[in-house]
Amino acid sequence: MDNKQIRVRFAPSPTGPLHMGGVRTALFNYLFARKNEGKFILRIEDTDQTRYVEGAEDYIIESLKWCGIEIDEGVEEGGPYGPYRQSDRKELYKEFSERLIESENAYYAFDTAEELDVMRERLKQEKSSVQQYNALTRGEMKNSLTLSQDETKDLLNSGAKYVIRFKMPENQEIIVEDIVRGTVKVNTNQLDDKVLFKSDGMPTYHLANVVDDHLMKISHVIRGEEWLPSLPLHIMLYKAFGWSETKPEFAHLPLLLKPSGKGKLSKRDGDALGFPVFPLEWKDPKTGEISRGYREDGYFADAFNNMLALLGWNPGTDEEILSLRELTSEFDLAKVHKAGAKFDHEKAKWFNHKYLLATSNEKLANMYQNILKEKGIEADDTMILKVVALIKERANFVSDFWSQSYFFFQAPTEYDKKVVKKRWKETTPEIMKALKEQLETIEEFNHNNLEKAIHDFMEGKEIGMGQIMNPFRLTLVGAGIGPGVFEIAELLGKKETIKRLQKGIENIKRD
Ligand code: GLU
Repeated sequence: MDNKQIRVRFAPSPTGPLHMGGVRTALFNYLFARKNEGKFILRIEDTDQTRYVEGAEDYIIESLKWCGIEIDEGVEEGGPYGPYRQSDRKELYKEFSERLIESENAYYAFDTAEELDVMRERLKQEKSSVQQYNALTRGEMKNSLTLSQDETKDLLNSGAKYVIRFKMPENQEIIVEDIVRGTVKVNTNQLDDKVLFKSDGMPTYHLANVVDDHLMKISHVIRGEEWLPSLPLHIMLYKAFGWSETKPEFAHLPLLLKPSGKGKLSKRDGDALGFPVFPLEWKDPKTGEISRGYREDGYFADAFNNMLALLGWNPGTDEEILSLRELTSEFDLAKVHKAGAKFDHEKAKWFNHKYLLATSNEKLANMYQNILKEKGIEADDTMILKVVALIKERANFVSDFWSQSYFFFQAPTEYDKKVVKKRWKETTPEIMKALKEQLETIEEFNHNNLEKAIHDFMEGKEIGMGQIMNPFRLTLVGAGIGPGVFEIAELLGKKETIKRLQKGIENIKRD
């Protein structure tokens, strides 16, 4: 890399919640910036007023904050190249589109929607391979190339609706190196005269994006592969403005694919297969529909980042658990894959499990304490801490703790019928009574002493371990689940254990 200051931008449009693919784009930009001591810029691209969605900008900012992606320059932070919201830069784009008209790289077009339809229909009839506004058709349309200067002026003065189109030159070979995709070659004959500016005073994405990347001194454009088809036009725009020498480098990131690998990952896949595709929960302001978020589903932000970072990139080692700091030091744009990256929900959960195991028991206990409070359960901090230590291995999320440990906080009121049928035999009540007497003799009620007591108890009797342990568990838990019975009994304590055993003897019935 040369010495130029690395400046990258994440440039979302506030048209709805940020898809996890968007978060991955932001993350790769951020990792690249941090790795190269550069700047990470958030630019809000809100020039398409028809697609603007209330609350989307705040959602995007909150999502980045949750992920720990720090913004150096942006709508809230400000910075030397602001404003960073395109609607606040409106005036600027008009001036730049006029520059292109002056240099004959763009022109005014006055065609109505109907006239454009007629043109497309005619080309279709003529079996033309493309039906576009381009070098072949522009000469027959209503624009400043076909009208006289006075006619154009009059139309503009009369307030006629117009757009400014890029005048794509004929038959030029565009060759550009993409850091991920390699050499991209396109002939301008395949491209149309894209609209750059509209008479509502707003630029289109293409113009605003290129002008801002130039003015904000962006060194690398790192964005999703869906923008690759726009690249040739952008290259031509840099050329038309005379900015070719300083244009940024480009890296187009591979798509996130459905778990099946067939096609782009969409919200519908998440709904059908039961996983979120958005970082945070989103409530549609119009319909009120709620979409799940990774945060609300109980993912740790670091686990989410880690999982995302490995979609389409890896450090070239087998290491999969990497903190944001480690990701930063390992990150390399040149190692980003070309092929689409399949999303795997099980793997996402696995990442969260690993981060959960690495989280201190104290922190997990605090989180669990909140869940218990919500359920109206009062429990002692030390007890929760012990429970967490015992069950965390079995959980992917803190929210799994309850189903793994509810019986520590409330005695069974009923007993799983299937387990009763299988484990509670005719002779069981007698065995449990004897077991209870044996347990009453234990002075220090810990799992070692419990184990020893049960071995002593079995000695000389014709019964197997299963005949004791399974019904014993049933009396304590009410079901056939949970960690080791001795551990459960130790945590419940002698009094509670004996009480539950007695209650089980009285209440469990084979019917
Ligand atoms: N506003 C575009 C988007 O919504 C930005 C694409 C780019 O990074 O150039 O993704």
